Amino acid sequence: MITKDNQLITKQWITDSRQVTAGGGDGQVADSVFFAIQGDHHDGHAFIGELYQKGIRQFVVERSALTGPPDRREELARYADAQFIEVDSSLQTLQTLAAQQRRQFHNPIIGITGSNGKTIVKEWLVQLLADEFVIAKSPKSYNSQLGVPLSVHTLTKNHTLGIFEAGISKAHEMQALEAIIRPTLGIFTNIGTAHDEGFRTRKQKIAEKLRLFIHAKTLIYCTDYAEVDDEVNLLLKAVNPDMRFITWSLTGKAATYQATLAQNHLTISGPTGMYRLQVPFTDPASIENLLHCVVTMLTLRSWSSEDLQIRLNRLRPVSMRLEQKEGINNCVLIDDSYNNDVVGLQLALRFLNQQNTRNRRVVILSDVLQSGQPEADLYEQVGELIRSNHVEQFIGIGPVVSRNAQWFAGNSLFYSTTEEFLGQFPFSDLRDSTLLVKGARPFSFERIVHRLERKVHGTVLEINLDALTHNLNYYREKVGADTKIMVMVKAFAYGSGSAEVAQLLQFHRVDYLAVAYADEGVVLRQHGVDLPIMVMNPTGSPDRPETFATLLEYKLEPEIYSMRLLREWGRFVEEGKGHGAWGEGASTPASSSLTTPYPTPHALYPLHLKIDTGMHRLGFLEEEIPEVVAYLNQHPLLRVSTVFSHLVGADEAQFNSFSQQQYDTFLRSTATLETGLGYRPTRHLLNSAGIVRFTDYRLDMVRLGIGLYGVEASGIDPNSLQTVGTLRTVISQIKTVQAGESVGYSRRGWLDHDARIATLAIGYADGYDRRLGNGVGEVWVNGTRCPTVGNVCMDMTMIDVTQASASEGDEVVIFGRELPIIELAQRIGTIPYEILTGVSERVKRVFFKEGN
Ligand SMILES: *Cc1c(COP(=O)(O)O)cnc(C)c1O
Repeated sequence: MITKDNQLITKQWITDSRQVTAGGGDGQVADSVFFAIQGDHHDGHAFIGELYQKGIRQFVVERSALTGPPDRREELARYADAQFIEVDSSLQTLQTLAAQQRRQFHNPIIGITGSNGKTIVKEWLVQLLADEFVIAKSPKSYNSQLGVPLSVHTLTKNHTLGIFEAGISKAHEMQALEAIIRPTLGIFTNIGTAHDEGFRTRKQKIAEKLRLFIHAKTLIYCTDYAEVDDEVNLLLKAVNPDMRFITWSLTGKAATYQATLAQNHLTISGPTGMYRLQVPFTDPASIENLLHCVVTMLTLRSWSSEDLQIRLNRLRPVSMRLEQKEGINNCVLIDDSYNNDVVGLQLALRFLNQQNTRNRRVVILSDVLQSGQPEADLYEQVGELIRSNHVEQFIGIGPVVSRNAQWFAGNSLFYSTTEEFLGQFPFSDLRDSTLLVKGARPFSFERIVHRLERKVHGTVLEINLDALTHNLNYYREKVGADTKIMVMVKAFAYGSGSAEVAQLLQFHRVDYLAVAYADEGVVLRQHGVDLPIMVMNPTGSPDRPETFATLLEYKLEPEIYSMRLLREWGRFVEEGKGHGAWGEGASTPASSSLTTPYPTPHALYPLHLKIDTGMHRLGFLEEEIPEVVAYLNQHPLLRVSTVFSHLVGADEAQFNSFSQQQYDTFLRSTATLETGLGYRPTRHLLNSAGIVRFTDYRLDMVRLGIGLYGVEASGIDPNSLQTVGTLRTVISQIKTVQAGESVGYSRRGWLDHDARIATLAIGYADGYDRRLGNGVGEVWVNGTRCPTVGNVCMDMTMIDVTQASASEGDEVVIFGRELPIIELAQRIGTIPYEILTGVSERVKRVFFKEGN
């Protein structure tokens, strides 16, 4: 058993089938083992076949997943040359293996937990201790039940220090993480309200987090958090009497180190001496994180104030953002300057794969610092990653990557410094490509990003892809695993950018997409989206029959809402059937097959029937169903993939009884349809608000719209969603205007005080509604809300910044977390939908992610 475990420990671990690219190099797959994990939304066992095709031959599988249906044992028997290790829980097996691997490591391990600051303290410690240690660390914020074992798996015998973070959201989660990290030195950053809902009391949450340290030799914490101090004294001292506590306080509480801050000078005094340091950041959160770092450094070894200062001067803000932007020459730029280790590179390449399937791929990479691996092994591995991810052009910057050129393809380019690259590279040759730019801090790759980025005029709509994922998961959890999800990406994905959003949804394997018009569907297909797509308005107009041809050509599925449309579509399909019927590809909706498998799916043309149960917009009335059935039975090429209706007042309690009536009408209509057709199409009724308020009506599928974009329209569960879009602009000019003067067109903005007036680079042509002028709207400037003054112009808006601290060039938030879209909508008597979809296409969208 031990030898088998050790053999698994030395392999590359794969837990997500999307990590493996098609045709990935042999090196990658031969060394890999796939852990099939059953989660709330995904079952890893469903991807064994796919991974087998890609060359993986070793699998850890769960017994409970093998006993059908579907009969997986039968499937697995077909992969005769693969090895299947059957376990009760793949996740637990992964955790146990990581814990064993940890036991083989005898250098110090720092374990960090707490409500906030874990990732920053970890990243800063890595920056501060880079000269003294070869450090293994959690990539980004990999701190969950799955993230921690994957992090600890990066430990090698060359490392001299490990720094890992542990995050929990529920009681009883820490025990497993403790066994894997088994820190020798612990840091408890702080306690806040995050995840309070997962615990009975705050005390219970602290106690659970403290479990990380039950075997540690030393614990560092701040005694200003009285609750933490109490629990440490009550619990930890009892279970671990030999533990050393190194504490600090900024407020004069009893502690090992006393700290004081005056301007940007931090003084720390304690048993090892007195240190006066100039700090690069002074906001309270940064000071707290810094103190944890400095006290940890003082605990690890001795330092002079000068040495500490030299290290502190190197600190950079930790940005975990990976951004996708428009680049020069029709390129897409993926900017990931957060870190540059191998795991980070893997994650970034995965993102590259996920977001852009068509373009030529270019990777610009600096030396990889701090890997703890011998140079040749490291660059062989990097070269393999670049090759297996189908990167057409590799550009290496730095002396180390340059002298390891042999691991990269012949067309690769190497430069010894960033300056040399900027000076010599022929930028005009770089076109129509997706560029991943990833560099370690000292290489200042922000200069490369600056050179490659298409300059945007001051206004951008930032889309947080992690928030989008969070919101999708919220609704998935609400409806459960047996209900499918169609996501509405009409109207440019509610203004958020349809192709990028659809690519992310495809990555997360939603079941269906829906758009309003065929053209919107075509754009998605051209960006490599092959999910099934429903088109709600399949006819442009009666004199544009070419729309139907477009539908067929791009495998888009029409919504059929009237007999006239049904007959036109039926005639078109039958006339066209000679030349290549509905495509052979994957987009024939496998998703409808859960309820009724298609008898011969490839020959049929899927359509979606809309029933009018009370909206009185589009759709068949209940009494028309028999006629629909009769027609369909005479035209067997047409297949009803799904049938649906729409609630008129899902978000308002006053319409509850009408919603119930619509549901009943819908059920009767679909029953008539099923009986008549002899099969059962997928039924769907609920939109976002409906999912929250009428979960029982979820049927076979739901249609998620505005909720995905962060607006909880029902108002029942407003804190469950994360803000997706932030509309920002900049201040072009600031001037002082005297009381009694007016601002803007038509002299509407009279001033009753001497005011500082700022002009913003946004107007109604960008989607800043003209009704928000004259003080109706407010914007957010460096923490202060400022009212508009005068009329909103086409490209500009004036605001009063008298009360704010503001300078020319400063960023201003129009809507976002600080200023909810719902509030903006209320101020002008409209709905969030109109605000979102009103952001004009001339405003650049920037997509970013912060998490894993
Ligand atoms: C837009 C749309 C939805 C999504 O509605 P939200 O309120 O945004 O969730 C659902 N169904 C249909 C038919 C739609 O047109």
